[in-house]
Parts: sequence; structure tokens; C-alpha cells
Amino acid sequence: MRKPLGRTRSAAPHLFRRSEGDARKRERPEQAAHKKTERGDLAVRFVPLGGLEEVGRNCMFFESEEETPGIDYIIPNISYLEPRKSNIQAIILTHAHYDHIGALPHIVERLGNPPIYATSLTKAIIEKRQEDFPNSPKLHVQVVKSGERVKLSNYFEAHFFGVPHTIPETTGVVLGTPVGNIVHFADFRIDYDEAGNPHGLEEFERIGKMGVHTFMIDSTNAEEEGHSLSERTVEKNLEEIFRKAEGRIIVATFASLLTRIAEIIKIAEKLGRKVALSGYSMRANVQIAQNLGFIKAKQGTIVTLEEIHKYHDNKLLILSTGAQGEANASLMKIITGEHRQIKIKPGDTVALSSSVIPGNERSVQVIKDNLSRQGAIVFHSDLIDIHSSGHAPKDDLKLVMKLINPKFLVPVHGYYFMRAANAQSAHEVGIRKENVFLMDNGQVAELGKDSFRVTDEAIPAFYVMVDGLGVGDVEEVVLRDRRNLAQEGMIVVIATIDRNHGRLLKNPDIISRGFIYIKENQEIIEEIRKRIRGLIARLPRYQPTESDYVKTLIRDQIGQFLYNKTKRRPMILPVVIEI
Ligand SMILES: [Zn+2]
Repeated sequence: MRKPLGRTRSAAPHLFRRSEGDARKRERPEQAAHKKTERGDLAVRFVPLGGLEEVGRNCMFFESEEETPGIDYIIPNISYLEPRKSNIQAIILTHAHYDHIGALPHIVERLGNPPIYATSLTKAIIEKRQEDFPNSPKLHVQVVKSGERVKLSNYFEAHFFGVPHTIPETTGVVLGTPVGNIVHFADFRIDYDEAGNPHGLEEFERIGKMGVHTFMIDSTNAEEEGHSLSERTVEKNLEEIFRKAEGRIIVATFASLLTRIAEIIKIAEKLGRKVALSGYSMRANVQIAQNLGFIKAKQGTIVTLEEIHKYHDNKLLILSTGAQGEANASLMKIITGEHRQIKIKPGDTVALSSSVIPGNERSVQVIKDNLSRQGAIVFHSDLIDIHSSGHAPKDDLKLVMKLINPKFLVPVHGYYFMRAANAQSAHEVGIRKENVFLMDNGQVAELGKDSFRVTDEAIPAFYVMVDGLGVGDVEEVVLRDRRNLAQEGMIVVIATIDRNHGRLLKNPDIISRGFIYIKENQEIIEEIRKRIRGLIARLPRYQPTESDYVKTLIRDQIGQFLYNKTKRRPMILPVVIEI
């Protein structure tokens, strides 16, 4: 599920930290990586790189002597791993939600394009997505199945097991390491039937009996009371709404909620409605899920958007992206009238079948309002249970903690307060306080056979952001520029130069935005012009101009002048036109 990056950095002290002794003095990672613990057993290092100070950006890695073998998830900040890429033995992807696979095209090459272990659906989705990044390399994906064991390196073995989530083939991992089994449940919930009986707990019990050193557990819903809502209840409620609908039905949900999408298509067939798919990711994901047999639509059930006019309104169901009010998604286009085939008309039933991700409340409110104004009947999960979260709430988390019965517990995925809620639950099921660790992104834990110690070492885990279009990283420089623009404004200097002689052909143009108001600051503007004339006049004559050099000169000298004059540093954009 795609989620916004959290921006809060937790500065809270560790409530439940350190099982033994005081921290040793800070060490260089190179040294620490080769170390054995005091007891002499081979140590394993575990580092969360994301997902512990936010919802999303989930990523962590494990390291043992002289190698850096398992990356559980893909990492936004790989500056620690990049120089060690030749040691990376494996990337494990637990499922195909974007907060677990999103970074892949941006970093896989820089990690040395190592083998990726994933189930067949995850493989298909990451490979499809890779097509959008033509400069990214071909991935080496090894398909794994639940129940399978894979030797990743001399020291690490992965044993995959299925966990219920909102996308098929989500896999948990038992990582066999020199210090014991480390269990990660990916994102998960517990499946209940309509009578309230849980399914598939035997598997978790079996894992618990293998003996678990450390358990990493999803904290996204750790604050929610109770048990997971049965997906059967969701199905039943959706069917009820669909039965009552007299006109078209439009269901907006995440394209990645493939389990739900498969159900909706099944209900549509039952009610004799055709299904049209709106939104690129919706079409792509449904196609992949059909190819792999996760969606079994009958021939003719799925129709194209161009064909929908052929069917009566009460014979149509449209599956659309955009339940969070995302500006570019299909539902928003429908609402604003920009969608080519679909406009809202009175009598349409619109169901928003997803939870509202924190931060999106307002945009969801806006779409609900707009839909109602245009005459649609709107259903959303606050009114009726038409969404069940993919993340286990408190009572289910406790149930699983008891079954897994680990020595040490690390709540992962979520803000500090969510993870703290999970720590609280752990105490309530009898896991000792000193064995529960609320780590921060970038902290290093050193694991011995009977120990778990958070060291004083920290490796870079600060946010590496990817720009909206996914082209190139918005790294520090760009962010600094943006801050600079917002605070100080900008000056554009346009110098038109004779290509052969390097002389100015006309007076330089100056444009100011957000810095000074030109009409009231003619004096400064004139001074800028004078300085540019001066610096260009000092360029060597009769040789081709180096426009990059001229730009640097302008930037430095005008920048210095403006700072002396105004004590501000606007961004200076020199444009050199050679004629
Ligand atoms: Zn997920």
C-alpha cells in the first residue's frame, strides 16, 4: 500500500533498551562487521534503514561476518551498503505493496543488482514496474513459494511462509542466522471466517516451536483494539450495497489491494455486472493477477472503458484508482470531468473501499463532497465495513506474539507511538521489558546467541527522496535549493554574448522572483548589470566562450554582491545565450 513518507524524526529516548552492559565506545562499521560477541559466538548485525520513524519506507538489513547478506526490504538510504555491494547476497521482498518495493528501480543497480527473492506475483509486479525505468537493469528474481527454504549465503538461510495480507502471496521469513532464527512477518493480519474463527494459526505455532531469537512485528495497527475484521464481512457488505444499487457502481480502491479487487470482480459476476477498469495501475495489476490466476474472471466479464456505453447502467461496475483523493488518479479525473469515458451522474453508487491514510483526510473529504454534489450515493468505510485493514490490531498481535514466543521482540513499521503500543502489548503477554527494543532507523543492533544489544553506532538512514516523477533522486542539493527558493527567492540573469569574441551584445536582463521588487530597487539592478558587464569585459578576448565558466562567475560574484548588500542569498540562475 502506498503511504506518505513520515517526516517526524523521533527524538524520544528508548524506553526499553539494552539487555546487557553499557554501550561500548563508538566503532567504525568496518570493524564492527567483523566482530564476534564477547561470548565468542558469531555475531549478527541488524539495522533498520526505514519504517521505524514513519509509516512506509520499510527496509532493513542483516549482516554477518564479512558479508552483508540479507536485505529484508529495499532501502531509501543505501550509503552504508553501496560501498559493500559486492558482499550483498540477497534482497528479500515480502510482498508487492509499494512501501516495500517502491525504491527498487532507484537503488538496485547501486546495490550491484543482487539476486532478489520474491513470490511469483511480487516478481511480476516489480518486473512490470521496472519497464517504467528504462535505465534500470534487468532484475535477477528467484521465485520462492511459501514453505520453501533457500540458502542465501554461508551464514544465512531463508525459510518462507505465507501470511494473510491484502495482496496475495505475502510472505513472512524465518531467517536462519548463526545466532538463531529471526522471524519477520512482513505486513500481516489474521484471517477470520464469518463466525469469527481464525485461520492458519498452525503454521505460526510451528514456527514458534522452531525456537525464535528475534521477532520483528508489524506495528501499523498496534493501537487499534480488537481483532481483524473478516474479509468475508467486507465481501458481504459490499455485495449488499451493490445489490441495492440501481445505477452504475464505481468502486475506488488501491490498485494493490488485489485480494479485494478479486472479490469485487466475483461479486460483480454474481450480480450480472460487467467490470471496467479505470487507471493505469488498476489495469496493469489486474492483468498480472489474471495471468497468474489470482483473479479468475469469466470471459467477457472485464470490458474496456470504450465499451461501457454499450451496457445499461445497472449492468456496470467500474473499478477505479484514487480512493485517497490523489490528484492524478482516475477517480479525481472522473469527479473533475476530465475523464474521457466516465462522468458522475445522479444515481451512481460510489464505494470508497480503503482506509484513509493519515494525512489524506482532507482530500478524501473533498472527493466525498464532490461526489455527493454531483448526485452520487457515497459509501465509505466509516459508514459501513467495506474495508478491512491489512494490518493486525492489538489482540491479533498479542495472539501471534504468544505463538511465536521469541526471546527478543522488535516492533517495526510505524511511528514511535505505534511501536510503543506494540511493546506494551508484548509486556501484557509476558515478554520481558528488557527484551523488547524500540530502535530508530540507522541504529545498529548486535545479536549474539543469547543477546540483543543496541550499540551506540549509527549508520546513515536519513531520508533520500525521490521526486514526484520518479526521475532521479531529490537529494540534499535539490532540497536545499527548494528551501532557498522558498526563503530567499531567486534572480535570473540573462547575458547575451557574441560567440566568437566573448563580448556582451546587449545589456543583461535581470528577473527577480521572491527576492526584491525590481521597480523599487533599480539601484541594485543597475549595479548587478554593471558588475556583469565588468566581469564579461575581463574575459580573455578572441577565444570561444566557456559558458559554464561564465555562469559560475556570475553566480559567485553576483551572489557575493547581493549578500553584502542585502544579507540574503537568493538563488542565482545565470542564463548565457551565445549568438
Ligand atoms: Zn503491505
